[in-house]
Amino acid sequence: MGKFIMNYFLVFQNKSYEEERKGGYLWAPQKNKNGQTFHHWTDMTLIKKGDIIFNSFDGKLVSVLTAQANFQEHERPTGLEQLDLWEKDGWLVNVKYSDLEEPITYKNYMEDILTLQDDKYAPFNKSGRGNTGYLFRVSKDLANFLFERIERTNPVLRRKFQIEDNLQLETVKQIEDELNSVTTLKKTEKETIIKSRIGQSAFKKALLTIEKKCRLCGVKDERFLIASHIKPWSESDNQERLDVNNGLLLCPNHDALFDKRYISFDETGKVMVKKSLDATTKTFLNISENMRINLDERQKIYMKWHRAKFLQNQLEVSLQM
Ligand SMILES: [Zn+2]
Repeated sequence: MGKFIMNYFLVFQNKSYEEERKGGYLWAPQKNKNGQTFHHWTDMTLIKKGDIIFNSFDGKLVSVLTAQANFQEHERPTGLEQLDLWEKDGWLVNVKYSDLEEPITYKNYMEDILTLQDDKYAPFNKSGRGNTGYLFRVSKDLANFLFERIERTNPVLRRKFQIEDNLQLETVKQIEDELNSVTTLKKTEKETIIKSRIGQSAFKKALLTIEKKCRLCGVKDERFLIASHIKPWSESDNQERLDVNNGLLLCPNHDALFDKRYISFDETGKVMVKKSLDATTKTFLNISENMRINLDERQKIYMKWHRAKFLQNQLEVSLQM
């Protein structure tokens, strides 16, 4: 697990559920009474501020926890005395609980879950049952899958996380500071890290709550949709990078055309097509001059930037001819 990557975990709370919930924390012992230790306890020391922990109870995903700070050493909190099989010394993470309106039963999705989880330190065993233990690691793919399920059935929670995505601006600044101290990384590498850590997934998630298909052609399969920045990531400041108004959800064809500025949109949302595209290309890439999209005022501001570049490019081409 890299230093800069946001990590995901899954916690099985059984006996400790009520108490930990009340106290807003997770706690695991360092050792049992025989002095043994286990990765599902020591993994507590991997949790950093901002990490996400999927909270499981009774075979269901019941809430999503956000770590409010890095892990700390901490004695067993009062209230957990019934768990006296364990040593007192332990690790504690303060968390914020966001409850699902509709808990998700893992069993219903086990086939997908088993494919998406990593081989090691994963929450479920091959027969689809939860592994014995406390804290397990969740791969990015599994995390995305669980978030997709949550989004389908939990509109209130979805909005909440959307709001938190907007608050990620702070996080971007934090990551940038972190990365700036690493002088061996090239600028483009840093950008890739930031982008993968908070960029595309959060941005797409936020966009999907607004629109569910390609703006131009209506392709709906989320697996193919791309959250395209109107003003590109590389040219945007942090505010603009995370602003959903700076996004268009597009299918791969239309994203390629838009991203490389073979198309843009005028003031009224009517498509503008680069003159150098021939009729056959236009047909096969499914673009025609009478297509149009709706743009609200805030999107129009970003589109003005895109159009200016498009026109400038068009002009340069015609001067060369
Ligand atoms: Zn499309």
